[in-house]
Amino acid sequence: MMKREQIVFVGTSDLAGHFRGKSFPAADLPARLLRGVGLAPTNIFISAFGPIQVTTFGTKGEVFLVPDPSTRVFVPFEGSTAEYFFLGDIRTLEGEPWAFCPRHILRRAIERLQSETGLRMLATFEQEFIYSGVAAHPRQPYELDAYRRQGVFGETLLGAMRQVGVVPDSFLAEFGPQQFEVTCAPALGVRAADDAVITRALAQAVAFRLGHRVSFNPLPEPTGTSSGTHIHFSFLDQDEQPVLFDEQRPWQLSVLGGQFIAGIQHHLPALCAVTAPSVPSYFRLRPNRWAPVQADVGPLDRGAALRICAGVDSDPERRARQFNAEFRVADATASPYLALAVLVQAGLDGIRRQREIEIDNPRSLPKNFAAALTLLETSQSAAEWLGTDFLSAYVLFKRAEIKGLENVDEVEICRRYAEVY
Ligand code: GLU
Ligand code: MG
Repeated sequence: MMKREQIVFVGTSDLAGHFRGKSFPAADLPARLLRGVGLAPTNIFISAFGPIQVTTFGTKGEVFLVPDPSTRVFVPFEGSTAEYFFLGDIRTLEGEPWAFCPRHILRRAIERLQSETGLRMLATFEQEFIYSGVAAHPRQPYELDAYRRQGVFGETLLGAMRQVGVVPDSFLAEFGPQQFEVTCAPALGVRAADDAVITRALAQAVAFRLGHRVSFNPLPEPTGTSSGTHIHFSFLDQDEQPVLFDEQRPWQLSVLGGQFIAGIQHHLPALCAVTAPSVPSYFRLRPNRWAPVQADVGPLDRGAALRICAGVDSDPERRARQFNAEFRVADATASPYLALAVLVQAGLDGIRRQREIEIDNPRSLPKNFAAALTLLETSQSAAEWLGTDFLSAYVLFKRAEIKGLENVDEVEICRRYAEVY
C-alpha cells in the first residue's frame, strides 16, 4: 500500500496577522531546524487579502524562516491529516535576526524590559471569534444552550491546546450569535504571543476537521457584535514575585504597574495602528460595543481601553498573582507579536519616564485606521521601538490596504475581512 509522507509547516504571524510560512517533508526537520526555509523578503508584505499590493523589497533578496523547536505543535486528528507546525524566526543570509521578523521585534522588546527593569512579563490573549458550526439562531448570550449547540468543537479545541502545551483557561459562548471566546493560561514573554498564534491556528484546524470555519474578524457586519482580542498582562520580578499588585495603593495597583499602564495610555492613540490594524478594527471601536472608544484606564471597567482586573482569591498571595491589567484595543487583524511588542515598549517608556495614569479628560481613540497610521508614522517612539525601516514599510503596506477599500461600503468591508480572518 502507498504510504503517505508526513509534512511539517513553519510559519509566523505576519504584518497582516496571518499565519504564513512554508512546509517541507518532516524527515528533513533536523536540517531545517538549522537552516530554515528560504523566503522572499516581500512575503512579509503579502496583503490581508492575498495579492502583494506594495513591497519595499520587490522580487529581490532571501531570508530564512527557522523553526523554533520549543514551539512544536503536533495534533493527530482521527481520520484526517495531523496538524503539524512550528513557529519560526526570520533570519538574514548571515544568520542574524531580520529587522522585519515580527517575533524578533517582540523578543527585542521583552529583552529590553527585562534588562532595564528586571521584570518578566506574563501575558495571555483572550480571543473572540465566530464559529460557523453553530446553526444561525437568535443570540443567546452566555447561555448553556449556546455553549451546548457548538457540539464537540470546544472540547476538541481544548484537547488540542492541552496536548501541545498551551494550557486552556476558558472556553465560552459569548454575547453575539455564533460567537465564542477562548483563552489560555498566561505565559512568559514571547511564549504568550506564540500561544495566541497557536490557539488561533488550532481553532481553525478543529473547525476545518469538523467541516466548518472560525472567523476572528473584528466585526461580521457593521451593526453586529464585535470580536476583540484582549491582552491581559502582569509581571514577575527576579524572585518570581508578582509586582502589579499593591494592596495599599489606589486600585491596588503598584507604582511600577501604574507607570507601565500610563505608558501604554500615553502612546495609545498611535499604537492603535499596530493593535487594531485594519479598516474594520475602527468599526469595532465605537460606542455601545463593550469595546473602548477612549484612551482611558478603569478598574473593573469593560468599556475602558485598559481595565484593571482584580484577583478574587481569599489568599492574599494568590490574589496578588491573579491581579492583572487588560488591554482591550486589540483585535485579530493584528499579529500578536507586533501587538505585544508595542505594549511592552510603550509600558517600558512609562516606567522610564515615571508616567502617571491620566484619569480626567481621556483622549479619544482615532476614528479610523488612516488617522491611527498617521499618528504612528509621526511617533518618534514608535520609530525607535519598531525600527525606522520597518515602520515606514508598515505604514506603506497598511495604506495600500486602505486604498484598496476606497469607495467600498462598510457592509462589504466587513464581509471581505470575514472571508480572510
Ligand atoms: N466583544 C467585545 C469586544 O469587541 C468584548 C466583550 C467582553 O467584554 O468580553 O471587545
Ligand atoms: Mg469576551
